Amino acid sequence: MKKLCVIGDPVLHSKSPLIQNTMIRALGLDYEYFCVLVKKEELTDWMARALREGWAGFNATMPHKQALVPLMDHLDTDAALFQAVNTVCCRDGEFYGFNTDGGGFVRVLEQAGVPVKGSRFTVLGAGGAAKAIVLELAEQGAGQVLVCNRTAEKAEALSAVFPDRITARGFSPAELSDACKSADVLVNCTNLGMIGSPSFENLDFLQSLPGGVPVFDLIYHPEQTDLLAEAEDLGHPVTNGLPLLINQAILSLEHFSGLAIDPAAMIPLVEKALDDDKP
Ligand code: NAP
Repeated sequence: MKKLCVIGDPVLHSKSPLIQNTMIRALGLDYEYFCVLVKKEELTDWMARALREGWAGFNATMPHKQALVPLMDHLDTDAALFQAVNTVCCRDGEFYGFNTDGGGFVRVLEQAGVPVKGSRFTVLGAGGAAKAIVLELAEQGAGQVLVCNRTAEKAEALSAVFPDRITARGFSPAELSDACKSADVLVNCTNLGMIGSPSFENLDFLQSLPGGVPVFDLIYHPEQTDLLAEAEDLGHPVTNGLPLLINQAILSLEHFSGLAIDPAAMIPLVEKALDDDKP
């Protein structure tokens, strides 16, 4: 049996073992997936331990995604572009780093029937998740990506990577409304609305979205944020962050196992496992 895990701090609440072990069993793979608490200052010790103990690979969450970049022997294109690693395969004593954040979101769009090429995206937020999604969308040929963020420098840094496709905008009600006017797709990558975080002060900007524009929120806890509830009331198709969580996990397992995995077969199984796990 080959060992996989997620490392991070905090990490013990992670749904990754449940999601991955559900898929591993359904596919009949010879892996077991665990959770390992690795503090920020313990990362290099963990890397040595991973090789010594023969771990086949691991996922990484806060606070390790950026710190892993210089520790990799090989980096895939997305991990290099985002300067963040969330999936590591250990092969023949070497580390192969991947990032599944952007690719996972593109799969979510495909499954929702939303094209990337030529579409105009308005993205709220410019943190870690937004960075991966915005750069992936621009790289995959989005017509325009407007990045609205409270801290201007973070949105401007993203715009500097693909200046012809990514435009930085502010986060005032007027700027949000304006950015929604030309959107074909709206994506919330802030933590506004997440359990334990504040909500949007007002959602009037949604009134500026053209009719029928799909709205995605990366948050899955709660299942429906105020943003999604309001967008749904206005007649927009809405998607929460659960499909992204699952699609990223599928991509990671593809890297670990070398197999192509059919998302349509896995998604219902994982959704059921997560549902059964609810308190
Ligand atoms: P992050 O790096 O901390 O970024 C947080 C973003 O939210 C920043 O753009 C920040 O703006 C903005 N923000 C926070 N408080 C705000 C406020 N009061 N007003 C305006 N903007 C505010 O976090 P992250 O890792 O990108 O995660 C963002 C969200 O995505 C979280 O809810 C996370 O759970 C979710 N997520 C979901 C998945 C999934 O699989 N579904 C994957 C990754 C992340 P500033 O730059 O101005 O601080």
